Amino acid sequence: MGSLTLPRKVVVLGSTGSIGLSTLSLFEESGVPVEILALTAGRNVERLIAQARQWRPAVAVIEDETKLAALKDGLAGTGVRAAAGAAAVAEAAAMGADWVMSAIVGAAGLAPTVAAAETGAVIALANKESLVCAGPALLAIAKAAGGSVIPVDSEHSAIFQVLQPDCAHRVARLILTASGGPFRTWDKAAMAAATPEQAIAHPNWSMGAKISVDSATMMNKGLEMIEASYLFDTPEAKIDVVVHPQSVIHSLVEYTDGSTLAQLGPPDMRSPISCAFAWPDRLEWPAARLDLAAYGQLTFESPDLDRFPLLDIAREALRLEGGAPTAMNAANEVAVAAFLDRRIGFLDIAAAVAGTLERMNSLGNLAVAQSDAVENAMMIDASARRIAAEVVAQKHRRL
Ligand code: NAD
Ligand code: MG
Repeated sequence: MGSLTLPRKVVVLGSTGSIGLSTLSLFEESGVPVEILALTAGRNVERLIAQARQWRPAVAVIEDETKLAALKDGLAGTGVRAAAGAAAVAEAAAMGADWVMSAIVGAAGLAPTVAAAETGAVIALANKESLVCAGPALLAIAKAAGGSVIPVDSEHSAIFQVLQPDCAHRVARLILTASGGPFRTWDKAAMAAATPEQAIAHPNWSMGAKISVDSATMMNKGLEMIEASYLFDTPEAKIDVVVHPQSVIHSLVEYTDGSTLAQLGPPDMRSPISCAFAWPDRLEWPAARLDLAAYGQLTFESPDLDRFPLLDIAREALRLEGGAPTAMNAANEVAVAAFLDRRIGFLDIAAAVAGTLERMNSLGNLAVAQSDAVENAMMIDASARRIAAEVVAQKHRRL
């Protein structure tokens, strides 16, 4: 397969989730010869057992320690070692793979992603929250170790693919496309009454619950603005968002000469994953091809900041820098969990994030703390979670 060498030893962090499944499906469909060193999951022990029985990694790790006995039982006689706990997940990340898929959801992915980065592996990064939480530090660690971070988020993969390295200083704008989510055309009253089931029914992508809610609030695009700023060293003022409901154009780069380059493809996360796997080569696999005539038209509109205030809150957090993006991400995780748990309403998510940032700011917690070190980021994350839990509890009492 060509002249370049593909990675062979791989670790999949978050193998039982949507991105984890797409990663293993890509390995299967492409038939690339990979040796899986470790598969890790949060709580879904049944699926982890099934995957480990199929792929025979050296170790399978479940973060939830109460499930270790079940994991051991399920793997009896396979020769696959069973382990549990957050530390074991981070150890698996640092086993010495060539390529690590970082696909845990939330800031819980930060420590394992850092552990992988320290080994100098190529990190295929789906876990955007780790970048939002401690992006500059994480990227510096990967660089110092001689590794790299290749984005898997479809928008960032698109930009990564069309960004000409020699012309980085000639970039006028990064333009992130957004599907607009399931509530793109809903009015505020309907959004206020939206249920978790409605919020996670995404029109184009089948994803985990948390990112699906983020797409519905458009916080996903806010997180992605911050992700893009860190990954491509681009200030907030040069990052724009356009709503493109068909999710065919995955993002664009506008250059100073007025030329704009885009990357297109059917909405299938195996495409950016295969790009991150084979880069700078390309994988040959039976991917669905883009049939533009079948789409007929591609449409675009500006995001509505009144109905989707988190886009602006994220922009402001990026402008503030320091600990603001870290705190915003933590507050969002707490608020989304409360919404999925039916403790707060859909529009309360944005209000809870804004309320947490205000409290953190008035306590001086944002200005003082710079998220330039991973430990600092983890401290800000923890204090924002405490405050967000209080803010959410107040909203819950009012319901
Ligand atoms: P998911 O909820 O489907 O899967 C998350 C995975 O992480 C599961 O394997 C779960 O067991 C594991 N996990 C959860 N909590 C954990 C913890 N505390 N410790 C260790 N493991 C834990 O989520 P997903 O949709 O696959 O998304 C994963 C990441 O990729 C997210 O950061 C998301 O924003 C990003 N992403 C996803 C998509 C997509 O299409 N699904 C697209 C772009 C980016
Ligand atoms: Mg995305």
